[in-house]
This record gives sequence, structure tokens and C-alpha cells, in this order.
Amino acid sequence: MSSSVRVRFAPSPTGPLHIGGVRTALYNYLFARKMGGTFILRIEDTDQTRFVPGAEQYILDSLAWLGISPDEGVGAAGPHAPYRQSERKELYKAYADQLIREEKAYYAFDTSEELDAMRTMFESKGSAFQYNALTRVKLRNSLALPAAEVQALLDVNTPYVIRLKVPAKGEIRFQDSVRDWVHVHTSSIDDKVLMKSDGMPTYHLANVVDDHIMEITHVIRGEEWLPSAPLHILLYQAFGWTAPQFAHLPLLLKPEGNGKLSKRDADLGGFPVFPMEWTDPLTGAVSKGFKQEGYLPEATLNFLAFLGWNPGTEQELFNLTELVDAFSLERINKAGAKFDVNKAKWFNEQYLKQQAPELLAKEYLGHLPSEQGLAFVSLFLDRITFPQELSTLVAAFIESPSTYDEAVIQNKWNAEAEKGLRLLADALPKVGVWQADEIKHAIHECLEAAGIKMGKVMQILRVALSGNGAGPDLMISMQLWGKDQVVERLSAALQAFPQNS
Ligand code: GLU
Repeated sequence: MSSSVRVRFAPSPTGPLHIGGVRTALYNYLFARKMGGTFILRIEDTDQTRFVPGAEQYILDSLAWLGISPDEGVGAAGPHAPYRQSERKELYKAYADQLIREEKAYYAFDTSEELDAMRTMFESKGSAFQYNALTRVKLRNSLALPAAEVQALLDVNTPYVIRLKVPAKGEIRFQDSVRDWVHVHTSSIDDKVLMKSDGMPTYHLANVVDDHIMEITHVIRGEEWLPSAPLHILLYQAFGWTAPQFAHLPLLLKPEGNGKLSKRDADLGGFPVFPMEWTDPLTGAVSKGFKQEGYLPEATLNFLAFLGWNPGTEQELFNLTELVDAFSLERINKAGAKFDVNKAKWFNEQYLKQQAPELLAKEYLGHLPSEQGLAFVSLFLDRITFPQELSTLVAAFIESPSTYDEAVIQNKWNAEAEKGLRLLADALPKVGVWQADEIKHAIHECLEAAGIKMGKVMQILRVALSGNGAGPDLMISMQLWGKDQVVERLSAALQAFPQNS
């Protein structure tokens, strides 16, 4: 099914894409797929002062890692190319000129010094300066100055900006898919700059013009853009275009829920807020990424989908196809979404269990014979959050213990336990087939014959063999260590453990 729904993700390449931006991209992707529409990537790079090399590639790589690459736009072809705003510069001027001709916008020649002076004057009277219907009549612009003077200024190339002539009176209303009706009075909006003096459009003009030309039907973006939406509506009205349907996504909040999630929270909490690792090209500082931390793309997607949306059922695990089926703009929450990294970890654990064990063994335990690698994967899989933990756990598992859990020794090491361990040290070398069930059987038999309860010995046996008081299935562990190792470790422990009086 193909429909006319067209959505866009429109990031500015000013640094690494924040995880909130990835969520915006994901919701756009899900909505496009759900509606049989098109997902477009447009790069909003008109602010050249904030351009960061590598940021655009980072955006493409992050979307590709998650499997939500655009259908159209930067990184794909499309009928409205180019999709980088810096390559569309010429186009915006014509639209600004159209508004000038129709007297919906005007030239403003005020220098920054003049505007600063205005601001200071207003502040001294305890109010804030706004360039608007009340003040514009007293400023240096084509609405206030005589036509001949305006022409003279233009003739000598006096620098100017183009500003939108925001009506003095009027109400702007629009229905947002998430926030429902939004009403704003035009008097609260200033005459925003549309074209800067360097001939570049501002975000507002370029964004609205491109959304119109690219036939965007739904604008799904972060809540931080909600204050700009009334101005955008005014621009659509000024051009005589139909505005797209807006959906402003809830903020991502700190783990504790008070305030916006920041990179500082991430640094303090030791968790990533970027999809992939990012090295700052200026400072060389490295920021953690979900990918490098060991989050699986499926888990990251599932986690992000639930940051501000819910399916209305108890189901929590959704793969991308299921998310597409379940997604709707109506079920996006208004309230901010707490970024709970423990939830992200939980999702990762669930998806890790769904991975093909052969692949995990190959990737993380490739140095071992494949059968052994597989055995380790099944031994440790439900004890890990991130796949790379397999390598460290296995490396530690293979090493003979150099220390023993003191607390367990204090509690459990007594004459009876010692007797049990000594009996096992005799019995285990005689086990015929060194296999978990056989080992278990031999241990049972040996302890039972001596009238010693399993519970008196098993934890101390684990400490003797691994050094730790807890760990994965002990019988399978013993099988994997091999008979010689077990016998050797047991006698080393009997030497090392304190004397029982
Ligand atoms: N370039 C804006 C950003 O960086 C786009 C906002 C929008 O989607 O309209 O988020």
C-alpha cells in the first residue's frame, strides 16, 4: 500500500545526534511505514557557524545501525533533491521576495548596535524589547521609512534582514496530534527574521518552505519546537499554503524525572545518550554510544519506542515490524518521558536471549572451539546484560581462582564442610564420564554415604572451584572446567582454606 503520507526527519548537523533525535526519527519512520508513506531525511544546515564535520555521516550511520534509514533524502535519492538546505539557498530568497511583494514581510535595516540600544532602553524601563507591530513603526524598516529612502538604502547595498510582518491582532490556532488544540495570540510573536543579512534563510523560513515543497503531510518533531509552531502556521497562511499536521513529541526527562535529559546526566550516570560513540572533532572528547556499550539495535528501538508512546496493552517486547503495526500518533503521551537506563538494560537482556547462540559464540568467543563457545553462551546468557560480558566472564571462568569469597568461608567453612570436600576430592577423580549429570550423581552418592547434606557443602565447593559464592550452574561449570582442573582446584582450595579447629 502506498499513500500520500510524507514525513521528514530534519536534523541540524551540529554535533552527534542525541538519542531524543533518534526517537524523533523512529516515530517518523514508524508512522511512515504504518501509513504506507515515505520517510524523508532533510539536513538543516543553514546555520554554517554551527556546522560540525562528521555530524551528517553520524546521523546516517546511526539510522542505518537501527535499520530505520530514509526512503528519500540525504543518503537516498528523491524527486526533491538536493535535500541539504545549504544546497537549496537560492530557492528561499525567492519565497522571501514573494512575501515582500505581497507586503507580508519587510526589509529591516537596523544594525545590531541600534537593536542593542533599543533593548537597553526597554530594559531600563523594566520591559523586554520585541520587534513587533508596536515597535516596528519607530524602527528602520521598509514599513516605517518613506519608499524613496528604502530604495536609496537598497541601491547602495545597505545590509538588511527580511522580517515577517506579524499581524498586530489575531489568534493562531491549530490542532496538534499530541497536544490537541493550541491557541496563541499574535501579539506574543515578534516579527521573526526570515532572511539573514548574509543572504541565508533562517530555520523558520527554510523549514516551512521545504516542508511545503517536499509535500510533507505530517511534522513529527520534539516539543522544543512547539513554541515555533504558531509562527510556522503564520508563514503557511502568508504563503497561502495548507499547513501539515503537527505532532510535538514529549521531552525526554532526567532519570529522576525533574528536568530535561542532558549529556551531563549521562556522564554522571555512566550511561549513553547518543546512539553511537562520538569523538568531538575539536576537543577529541569521546561520548559513549548505545552501540559500543553493547546495546542491540532491536533493544534500542524497543526502548526508544516506549519513551513517549505506549501500545495500550501489557505487551512490552516489540520488534520493528510489530512496532509499525501497533504505532499511532494518538497513543503518544503528552507528559515528558523519564529516561530510565535500567529499562534499556532490561530490553537488552530480553533481546540478547533471542540472539542466535552460534553468532554470539562466533563474535565474542571466537578464540574457542565452537562447541565450547556455545556451551559458554548457554551457561552465561541469562547472567549478562551486554554481549561483550561473555568474553570477560569466560576469561575469568577459565582462570583458576586466586582469592576466595571470605564471607562464604566465614559462614560455611566448618569441620563438616571440610569432611565433605575431602571426600569429594577422593570421589571426583573416579567419575567415569565427565558430564554434568554424572558429576552430580557422584557428588550426591558420595555425600549421602557420609550422611552429609548437600546444602552444607555445595556453596563451599563453588568457592573452592571458582573463588565466588555465586555463579552459573555448578555441575555444568565443572563439566566445562574438565576433570583435571576440578581436581587441581579442589586440592589447591583445601590447602588454602583455613584450618578448622
Ligand atoms: N532542524 C531542526 C532540528 O534540528 C528541525 C526541527 C523540525 O523538525 O522542524 O531539530
